[in-house]
Amino acid sequence: MPIYEYQCLGCDCEFQKLILKKEEEKELTCPKCGGRDMKRIISKVAYHLSEGDRLSSFDPRARQTDSFYSDTRNIGLSAQKKAQEMGVDLGKGFSEKLERLRTDPGSVFKENE
Ligand SMILES: [Zn+2]
Repeated sequence: MPIYEYQCLGCDCEFQKLILKKEEEKELTCPKCGGRDMKRIISKVAYHLSEGDRLSSFDPRARQTDSFYSDTRNIGLSAQKKAQEMGVDLGKGFSEKLERLRTDPGSVFKENE
């Protein structure tokens, strides 16, 4: 499940929220000021690692931190790594869906509704 990062437009604070259903996003309130106007922040971290770098530096047995899971680029990394180790080709459809999960999770949820 994706954890999104939001910025409150009222007080400028930033917080993270696990969103299970798309409707939950509309119910969000700022934990600091209770405001309801906010925007989702797309990761501010620079894209300095290539997909291959991320995959080879990823250790599926390591304990991951919350920040790992809140980075949408890490979605599906575990499955990719496992498949790579087993020599399985996940196919074009899988990586396309993964790419959409990372960049536009809303569209994937819409599809599953
Ligand atoms: Zn606020």
